[in-house]
Order: sequence, then C-alpha cells, then structure tokens
Amino acid sequence: MLVTFYGVRGSIASPGPSTIKYGGNTSCMHVRLNSGENLIFDAGTGIRKLGLRLAHNDEPLVLLLSHGHWDHIQGYPFFEPIYQKDREIKVLQGVEGNAQELKALLTQMDGSYFPVQAADLPSRLSTVTEVDAYLAHRNFRTERQAINHPGGGFAYRVEEDGVSFAYVTDNELFPPGTAATSYDQWVAFCEGVDLLVHDAQYEEADMPGKHGWGHSMISQVRKLAVDARVKNLVMFHHDPERTDGQLDEIALASASYFRGQGARIGSWVAAEGLVFNLRRASDPLVKTIEIDRIE
Ligand SMILES: [Zn+2]
Ligand SMILES: [Zn+2]
Repeated sequence: MLVTFYGVRGSIASPGPSTIKYGGNTSCMHVRLNSGENLIFDAGTGIRKLGLRLAHNDEPLVLLLSHGHWDHIQGYPFFEPIYQKDREIKVLQGVEGNAQELKALLTQMDGSYFPVQAADLPSRLSTVTEVDAYLAHRNFRTERQAINHPGGGFAYRVEEDGVSFAYVTDNELFPPGTAATSYDQWVAFCEGVDLLVHDAQYEEADMPGKHGWGHSMISQVRKLAVDARVKNLVMFHHDPERTDGQLDEIALASASYFRGQGARIGSWVAAEGLVFNLRRASDPLVKTIEIDRIE
C-alpha cells in the first residue's frame, strides 16, 4: 500500500514563502493498493497534481470524500482524468440517501463557478450510494466512522495484505455537546493502525474560540495515537496560518512527547509529496515502512 500526500492544508489553500516546505494545497491523498485500485481521499486543490500523474494510466479511480466542505472538493474541476474520454471514476457518496457532498462536487461545475459543466465531461462518473455494501465486496477491507464535524462526514480505515491506514480529517475529538463518535470509539477505530492521518489543525492558543469548529488540537491527537497504540501518526489539515517554522517546532515537540511517554510511535507532520510504502515483510510480524518524498 502506497500512501502519498498531495494536499495537507485545511480551510483554504495557503501558498507562499512561509509554506514552501510543507505545502499550501488543500486536502488530497492517494492510496495505491496492491490490488491496483486507486483510492483518492478528498478532492482539495492537491488533486490537480495527482490528476496529472494518474492521467498516464487507465487504472480505475475511486474517490472517497470525507465531506463536502469547500477545501475537500475545490480541486475537482482541475482533476485531469475527468476530461479523459470514458475514464471510469467512482465517487463514494458518504451518507446514504444524502446527496449533499456529491451535489457540491458537481454543482461547482455549473457554468457559473467554472466554465466547463459537469454534464459535458467525457469521462464516466458513477456514484456509489450503498457505500458499505460496495466496500464489503472489495479485495481490501474498509471501515467508516462518523466524524465530529459541522454537517457530518466520514473517516476511513483501510486494510490490505496485513497493513492498515486510517484517514481521519475534520474531526474534533472532544466536541461540545454530543459527539457523533466518542473518544473511546476513536481509540477503538484507530487501534494498532500502521499509519494514522488525523486532523491536527489547532493548538491550545486557538481555544476556546474555535471549540466546536470541528477540528482537533495537536495535543489531543498525540494522546489518541498513544491510547490507540498506532505505529505512525501523521498530523494533517494544517491551519492556513501555520508556517513551516511552526510546523518544524510541532514535529520536534511531538517526537519529544512520544519519547516522554515511552511510546514507539513514528511522528510526522504531513507534507506534500510525502510517501509511505506500507508492506508486510515475509516474516508476518515484521512490517516495513519506507518513507520517501516526491516532487
Ligand atoms: Zn477541511
Ligand atoms: Zn470541513
């Protein structure tokens, strides 16, 4: 399983001299499974570059949206495969019977917000509304969990050939009021995962003003990583104001936190181009994670 980060920023794209190292594109991740399937998590502005890469093959593409907020759909009109004749793209609609996310994805291509209209695209877009039934019949195993976020949405956990990956973005671990998913349920959902990608948009200084906005504090996400005994944590969905220098400091503080806890957890700050190659070695107890960075 090859996991590549194409957009790591939350809320709005934030290019500029202070975000060169980690990147300014909004949420998009690519997971290439050993089975040859391509899972794309979210269609923020990072999907543009991913689309240029995927345009050179004809493998099936499956788009899984965490939810329909702008920073998770705004790159879709610039996704090259949608302009390829008969290219098959499946969109998994997050909530059965609720077409809001899909509607947002396509209505931004209505001729007003964007010159090309969705109905005129030559690719073949199909939607899957019975998501759980669809996922139950794949070569890989996928679970979903409701995120604590205004308007709702889903986190995903994918397992294939003995390795696992979880994508939990736009999730407030301790929201005001009743949580869609409790902290203990998150611990169970993320338990033992090889690579946990989790929303870590805020720091203590952002609270209490942004309590209820649907994002977690970095300190809360670190605690989740320890409690769920994950192997690697990637802090994701950076605040648009977070500079490279601040993210460097967060990386150091996180490594030091895990050392202090006696936890052997790989600690990472999400950056565009970061690649994790997760695979199980011939010894079933040994897992290999190679880390690379692409342009
Ligand atoms: Zn977001
Ligand atoms: Zn959101």
